[in-house]
Amino acid sequence: MTFELIVRGNEWGVQLDVKKFPLFCLSCRNYLSEMYEHTGSRYGQVGSVKCDCGEDLILTDSDNIVEYINIHIRKLKTVLDFKDLFKMRKADFEKLKSDYGYDIYEKNLNKRLELDKLIADIEKHNGETILPIDTEFPATIEIQKWMRLMEK
Ligand SMILES: [Zn+2]
Repeated sequence: MTFELIVRGNEWGVQLDVKKFPLFCLSCRNYLSEMYEHTGSRYGQVGSVKCDCGEDLILTDSDNIVEYINIHIRKLKTVLDFKDLFKMRKADFEKLKSDYGYDIYEKNLNKRLELDKLIADIEKHNGETILPIDTEFPATIEIQKWMRLMEK
């Protein structure tokens, strides 16, 4: 499980639990070339990774489902919010419904589902394969397909 959507509806909307994601380095202002795999946190401490530029990135989270990651460099901190990064805000799921006729709440209410399963279901629903789009950060094919849907 690397990218789960938790479909709750109402004011909760869709929550995310992302275990493999890109990282942004504030020092060289680039995304790291490889995606990071989150293997669990303890009291919010996730781990650290070295950027190609030599900077050490320290990662922390909320110690719960992973909807964002905090990236610390020395005294600087940035938050990578996955709902923003991957276009999975409330309005984006409304777009999915209005542009593609796919109502995630109707089809998957109270379910946890993997992004690849959601993409396969949307493709089946639309009767066509989604072409992955180039993203400015390293991403899986499923993320690139989702970003294609949200781009139009
Ligand atoms: Zn860097």
